[in-house]
Amino acid sequence: DRMVTGELQEEDATVELSLRPTMLSQYIGQHKVKENLRIFIQAAKMREEPLDHVLLYGPPGLGKTTLAAIIANEMGVQFRSTSGPAIERAGDLAAILSSLEAGDVLFIDEIHRLPRTVEEVLYPAMEDFFLDIVIGSGPSARSVRIDLPPFTLVGATTRAGLLSAPLRDRFGVLSRLDFYDPKDLCMIIERTADIFNTSITKEAALEVAERSRGTPRIANRLLKRIRDISQVKGEQKISLSTTGQALEMLQVDKHGLDHIDHKLLKGMMNHFQGGPVGLDTIAATIGEEPQTIEDVYEPFLLQIGFIQRTPRGRIVTPVAYEHFGWKGRADNEP
Ligand code: ATP
Repeated sequence: DRMVTGELQEEDATVELSLRPTMLSQYIGQHKVKENLRIFIQAAKMREEPLDHVLLYGPPGLGKTTLAAIIANEMGVQFRSTSGPAIERAGDLAAILSSLEAGDVLFIDEIHRLPRTVEEVLYPAMEDFFLDIVIGSGPSARSVRIDLPPFTLVGATTRAGLLSAPLRDRFGVLSRLDFYDPKDLCMIIERTADIFNTSITKEAALEVAERSRGTPRIANRLLKRIRDISQVKGEQKISLSTTGQALEMLQVDKHGLDHIDHKLLKGMMNHFQGGPVGLDTIAATIGEEPQTIEDVYEPFLLQIGFIQRTPRGRIVTPVAYEHFGWKGRADNEP
């Protein structure tokens, strides 16, 4: 199990339920997204209409599901949650949609993974709140129209670029979640410590924040492990030195990188003099899927400027060389 992945891991699930903020005012960071949503929600409530469909996109673990549930709470409606891969047939989606009540929020995680046939059923549902279902097959097939209650679809995806244009166009609100800055992550860590019934010094919280790859899910996961170690040591308050020790044990470096990031970067540095090198070649070198590299490993490395994309492929930047204590591209590992 990877400590520093933004993707949901088994051990996160139960803890996260108790950590989810429920109202917009408790949702830390993402100021622009929050501001927009606050206005749209208020306007929809004044008009007594459901909120426009919302598309949330950004890397995993930044709070898309949390925000979707908050939208339902703020609107005072029910929250129904499913995911793209879970809806295999048009009938599955029809069953979910026809069970909604007026105004409800339907959350579809990984919406880019909806099968195309299901997606087509979604278009008229989103646009005019009806279903067009074909019953039977061959010459006896006929189409039936079913009216739906008005609802709000909140879709989440790690990459908006993977969404088909007709689907993307049907969202009235498109919000991109960004990696959190350390200041906001610190607040999230202090809030989580509070819910865990413990406390953490400011410096320790900042240390965790800086190694959490801008991702609340990772911050909370790291904090949980650090708390265990701090407790065993009998600390009243989680200290900076314990935090440092714990993160070393967990093999999370100063930038929140782990052995997989190291393997990826060093693979590029050792075998390709830091690039440019194509995604497929990198994938083959380190034995990972290109898609996984692009979705999971690379976004943060791009964000902190360790990797750059060029028309001829990816390159490792001087900042990354410095991080590893290498003099430069032509150099070998010290
Ligand atoms: P994925 O869809 O990849 O599983 P996600 O983007 O939907 O991830 P969430 O499950 O919403 O991420 O968030 C992960 C955890 O991080 C939540 O349990 C919540 O505790 C915490 N969290 C996320 N965003 C915030 C925030 N802005 N303020 C406080 N806590 C947050």
